[in-house]
Amino acid sequence: MPREDIFRKTPHVQRANRPFSCPAAAKVSDGRPGFTLVELLVVIAIVAILMLLVMPMIPRALEQARQADCASNLRSFSVAVLLYRNDHDSDPIPTPAWLSNLYPSYVSDTFLYVCRSDRTRGRDGSRPNGVFADEFAETDDTEFNPAGPNAYGRNPEIKRCSYMYEFSAAPCSWNWSSYLGATLADVDRDGDGVASWAEVKHHQLRNGDSWNKNQPYGDTMFPMIRCFNHHAFKKLQTPSGLQAWTLNVAYSGNVFEAPLYWEYNYAAP
Ligand SMILES: [Zn+2]
Repeated sequence: MPREDIFRKTPHVQRANRPFSCPAAAKVSDGRPGFTLVELLVVIAIVAILMLLVMPMIPRALEQARQADCASNLRSFSVAVLLYRNDHDSDPIPTPAWLSNLYPSYVSDTFLYVCRSDRTRGRDGSRPNGVFADEFAETDDTEFNPAGPNAYGRNPEIKRCSYMYEFSAAPCSWNWSSYLGATLADVDRDGDGVASWAEVKHHQLRNGDSWNKNQPYGDTMFPMIRCFNHHAFKKLQTPSGLQAWTLNVAYSGNVFEAPLYWEYNYAAP
């Protein structure tokens, strides 16, 4: 007979007189096993130890997921640039002037321009957060670019961008002449009297530089688009000091990892 029916059919048994009303006590009184205090404490201790073991791995796992997402963005850009180059192979500078110029003909989504590891959500452009100052302003195609929103042919529709584009149309500000061992006449493909980043990089790709004894670089290890937002979990010591580990798209279109100063660790493929 069910328990509730016993209570209903035997009036001298008062429900209020049951010694305990909590479920655990009821279980013990039913003769079924329950948890003792010691067993509960052991379970809590095991759960706490497991959490202590797992917790430190969570940030790294999240960062790895964001890196995979960033690599996916970079692959989309690599396909877009290759298509662009195919359409403009007769131009003196066959690469797009800016990543923003790929939108909307070759890249249809603006969210591809922002890396999920970029805490500024593209506001600070290619700045390697927390390691270096914004030393890449000339390749920083965001609405906060010091040169202006549409400088050197940028597409102002792209407001924010996490990625540094090595082949931009901005004048190259670094000491490229002595580094490459080349003159303006050597690199100025379009003959406008200015060495743009794209012209300097095309020359470096095909003719090398003082670092690699003027040997040509391979297309598969020459960075074209770079993300500096993943330095936190991979750092590398080189003769020049701390190196940020970055995600890159090569000129040939493959995604690879390299230090910030990639030339120092360059190995011919
Ligand atoms: Zn990234």
